[in-house]
Amino acid sequence: MKKVLILGGGFAGIETAIYLKKLHYSVTLVSDRDYFYIYPTSIWIPTGESTFEDVCIDLQELKEAHGFKLIVEEVASINAKENRVTLSNEQVLSDYDYLVVAMGASKMKHKGIENTLSICGTPTMSLKIKEKLDALMEKGSGKICFGFGGNPKDSSAVRGGPAFELLFNVHNLLKKKGIRNNFELTFFAPMAQPGKRMGEKALKMMDTFFNKLDIKQHFGKKITSFEKNGIVFEDETLLESDFTMFIPAGAGHKVIFESDLPKNEAGFIRIDDYCNVVFEDETMPTNIYAVGDVAALEGASWKAKQGHIAEVMARNTAHNIAQKDTNGRDFKGYQEHLNILCVMDSGDGASFIYRDNQKAFMIPMPLFGHWLKKGWGTYCRYSKLGKIPRIPGM
Ligand SMILES: Cc1cc2nc3c(=O)[nH]c(=O)nc-3n(C[C@H](O)[C@H](O)[C@H](O)COP(=O)(O)OP(=O)(O)OC[C@H]3O[C@@H](n4cnc5c(N)ncnc54)[C@H](O)[C@@H]3O)c2cc1C
Repeated sequence: MKKVLILGGGFAGIETAIYLKKLHYSVTLVSDRDYFYIYPTSIWIPTGESTFEDVCIDLQELKEAHGFKLIVEEVASINAKENRVTLSNEQVLSDYDYLVVAMGASKMKHKGIENTLSICGTPTMSLKIKEKLDALMEKGSGKICFGFGGNPKDSSAVRGGPAFELLFNVHNLLKKKGIRNNFELTFFAPMAQPGKRMGEKALKMMDTFFNKLDIKQHFGKKITSFEKNGIVFEDETLLESDFTMFIPAGAGHKVIFESDLPKNEAGFIRIDDYCNVVFEDETMPTNIYAVGDVAALEGASWKAKQGHIAEVMARNTAHNIAQKDTNGRDFKGYQEHLNILCVMDSGDGASFIYRDNQKAFMIPMPLFGHWLKKGWGTYCRYSKLGKIPRIPGM
């Protein structure tokens, strides 16, 4: 039985492990956390609609459900040339036929970032956001700013959706408590048209939402620094804020930056359409794959790193490894599956957003959209644990 070592226990790593086990490989998964975190449903932790535990799946349970081996430890370094992975406890892993790197992304560094919190940061940050919001609600009034930034070296690493979602959820929570009028809510971003990759229709609809909900917009000015009392822009103006939730764009993982893996300018691993890592030097190994946010996506200009794309890449990788081992030629590529797909929650409803090369649309889904997303969270947990059947492609 051939051995596969997977680094990372997120959407990409777990899906690869599940599918490789179905194909009868011996799989070892390394994760620095002992839980799989369902990022898309973490938006409800700060508003108290979900608990932290609701959004976590114990990796031990996933291991038992699918029969892979699990090491909970941090990966310290990867030496591709020597096919060697070193963990923080100095354990060296080199006895594998294939390596699948699925460690996600790091974040862009901004001056004063410690004065902000991100819903896309380390999972426990969601609890700190809750603490900040609770304290402001206790006080009864305040100014809250929500925003996201870009990475000029890789536009696919931008993540704006959860900032919109959290903002709308906070608006609804304040409204429910009858204190919305005491709060100034602002959405800010350095780009002139944040969310443009979702398509023109979505952009117009967001503008309508902002105006209807009395949410101020602050777009098109570069951010200089984050301060305790707000955000400073390139023209030296200050946007006052009692609490700033800011999602920095993704950047290459530190371990990848320091490794001999080929990467793009932003630090994401260069792969081909089949997720196989592409080295310019032909003497380098051909048994390494990269899936999910850690990889440099190629294709459409509007492409974005998303969980469902990570899972397509993972399933393809499992399939492509098996093809290679059986001398097959039916390799599967991820680029034809690139699209933007999300159910953007607002607390009292949602909008279905879709974009591919042919079409881009946004459909409002009042009330039931919120419950649809909640239902997806439950589906994600139980289907990953093998307790309910998988819907093909999900
Ligand atoms: C708030 C939020 C909402 C989102 N909503 C959606 C949505 O609605 N739809 C959608 O498609 N996508 C959504 N996304 C994007 C989606 O969650 C990501 O694209 C997805 O998580 C990428 O999966 P991944 O496995 O590549 O990376 P990650 O999920 O980041 O997983 C990386 C894994 O590697 C582990 N790891 C990292 N470093 C090390 C190390 N040194 N050693 C060992 N292990 C390590 C981590 O612990 C983690 O288990 C959302 C993201 C966020 C943050």
